[in-house]
Amino acid sequence: MIPPVRFLESTSLGHVCRLAGVADSGRFFSLLSEDNQPPAGPIGSLFVPAPRRSVCISARFSVPQRLELFDATIAELTPRLRRMRSPHQLMAALRWSMETMDRTFAEAPPGVRAGVACHSGCSSCCHVPVDVQAHEVLFAADHILLHFSPAELDRAIAQLAAHRGRVAAFAPGERDASRQPCALLQADACSIYAGRPQPCRAHHTSDAAVCSAHLADPAIDITQVYIPALRARMFAVMYGVDQAIEAAGYDERSYDFGSALHEALSNSFCLVAWLRHQSAFPDSCLSDPSP
Ligand code: SF4
Repeated sequence: MIPPVRFLESTSLGHVCRLAGVADSGRFFSLLSEDNQPPAGPIGSLFVPAPRRSVCISARFSVPQRLELFDATIAELTPRLRRMRSPHQLMAALRWSMETMDRTFAEAPPGVRAGVACHSGCSSCCHVPVDVQAHEVLFAADHILLHFSPAELDRAIAQLAAHRGRVAAFAPGERDASRQPCALLQADACSIYAGRPQPCRAHHTSDAAVCSAHLADPAIDITQVYIPALRARMFAVMYGVDQAIEAAGYDERSYDFGSALHEALSNSFCLVAWLRHQSAFPDSCLSDPSP
């Protein structure tokens, strides 16, 4: 029997609007289409590691295709995580994960990719809160430490500190609707493109004008320009990565990207804590720090 549907609403990257979560053999099923209507096609299913990230998947991408991507990601990543003993092995596993997301986009049907409006210089989606897990923060921090000059690193830390201060001042519930440029955004381009977190890689839309309008007015429904067939592929891989990491016993909490990244760049113990299966970042970096 299907339990009552519940909805999670959010406009932040990584939290994707409406979730209908029902348990089935330990898995959560996402049953609704993105316009909040019962799907026209076959009902879809995808594991959702609630409540860390919520998902909204269209029924237009078949269940076997989604689960295949999800299961293949877990099957490849799990042994890598089991063998992992060092930061170097961690970064190799995460690099594989990020490259898999990029490859999943590249291997989407040409007709699906043709509908993507995202282009260089368009940064509307870089002004909304980004929810991530600790491994994505550690991957971004590693990218910064490898590629930024000392001056660029100082500037990034200062901008991340300012971001963290603004987020810390939000009243409960205020962060989700907030709009501020990501601290890593430079001249409307991502300054850590190869090291950006999973939600940034998974996010595409079909109409940049709607993104821009949504930025000015959060009441405008951004989900109308999501590309369901592409989103389903990308989220299947993203949740596969998350699930493998959670199953291996690593930190799976949802963090505010900028706040946690500031901590990662200021405190080398974060990586050690993660490798020891502890919480990598303090509660103040959580995307929702309220008890
Ligand atoms: S990390 Fe890069 S892609 Fe993601 S929100 Fe920040 S600037 Fe944009």
